[in-house]
Amino acid sequence: MSHAPHWEPHAEIAAWSSRVDEVRRRSDEVPSETLLAVAFEELTVAEEELRVQEQQLVEANEALATERNRYLALFEHAPVPYFLTDPAGVIRQANAATSALLHVAPKHLKGKPLASFVPAAERGAFRRELLRIAAADDTASVELRLKPRRGEPRFVSATIGISRDAAAGPELRWLLVDETPRRQREREAAARAAAEESDRAKTELLATVSHELRTPLTSVGGYAGILLMGVHGPLNERQAVDVDRIRRAQSHASRLLDDLLDYFRAKRGHLEVELAAVPVADAVASAQAMVRPLADAKRLTLRALPAPQGLTARADGERLRQVVINLLSNAVKFTSEGGAVEVRVAADGSDVVIQVRDTGIGIPADRLEDLFKPFVRVAASDQPGVGLGLAISRELARAMNGSLAADSVQGEGSTFTLRVPAARD
Ligand code: ADP
Repeated sequence: MSHAPHWEPHAEIAAWSSRVDEVRRRSDEVPSETLLAVAFEELTVAEEELRVQEQQLVEANEALATERNRYLALFEHAPVPYFLTDPAGVIRQANAATSALLHVAPKHLKGKPLASFVPAAERGAFRRELLRIAAADDTASVELRLKPRRGEPRFVSATIGISRDAAAGPELRWLLVDETPRRQREREAAARAAAEESDRAKTELLATVSHELRTPLTSVGGYAGILLMGVHGPLNERQAVDVDRIRRAQSHASRLLDDLLDYFRAKRGHLEVELAAVPVADAVASAQAMVRPLADAKRLTLRALPAPQGLTARADGERLRQVVINLLSNAVKFTSEGGAVEVRVAADGSDVVIQVRDTGIGIPADRLEDLFKPFVRVAASDQPGVGLGLAISRELARAMNGSLAADSVQGEGSTFTLRVPAARD
């Protein structure tokens, strides 16, 4: 900070009168015109000196004002809430960030007790804190919940400096840090972790139950088969019909369990595939044979377009067949009588592409991606299923370094495209 020049009027006047005395003393020896000229010249010089001093004073004042404004701006526009209160917590001065935090216009903040922003139930404790703060030696800190005039309560941590030599009496200088966003993030992270943990526990339980159910179900199927084969003697016609129903219900339930188990494995990243060179035409033909009875029952045309000779994929043969069966049986499921289902195999660069196309009900464009989420069923279907097939199929495609995508025109039909890498020989 620059200093104002020292102007001492008394010294100035003293210097002046001594000069006037001097002129008087000399007035006997020198002609009066000369004396007058000298006096006039000295007066002019003195006047000029005064003018210069006054100018310096003005400049010093301006510098002082600029400096003051700079500090005010520093206070006013600090990016954190900063304010001064008396020892009872009544606000004396507050910056813009305080005003923004509390949702109160700056001019209305002055004179407001800070306690009026503390939730009623916490005011008693806050006042006790204030006593402790005001008695502290230099700085104190406190965690507070403040209720702005509008909006949600804010969690702040305050650092308070105490000044006992302010002109207006002891003063508390508050610096606040709004911890609300950090707390919010922490709470969200904790909630996410809890949800993940609960999800994991649920998955674990379901996986165990599915696994435990699988063994007895398999033996139900096995014994039904033995009865049907007449190992213990021939069944009459009605018995055979009933035992066949038991066997079919069992096989349906087992398939569902297999899907569930696959899904849980995929979720835990345990979906294992054994990659080898798989002749694609064979895998597709075998899948087609599996689905043929369903297609025939619905009088659908099911055909495979001729595939390129000797095309092999680097894939897991059994899993590849599983995905194609799933796509084909979906196509049959969602195509009404008289429609057509078609499989097409092609080489595309370093990929093998298997496409299953149907003339069925189709899928709304905005639901195409949802199909691949577990337990999603877009069209209410009277067919059995839980909505896991496509989720698992996509996971399997990925595990084989490939992909599975859907394309559809609602009311006209759908195309599912499975890609896996071609085998390199
Ligand atoms: P699920 O067949 O057990 O319902 P999926 O995961 O195989 O389970 O299929 C999920 C949903 O996707 C089906 O319920 C159906 O709404 C839709 N979908 C699948 N394939 C087709 C298709 N070819 N045509 C129309 N909708 C389909």
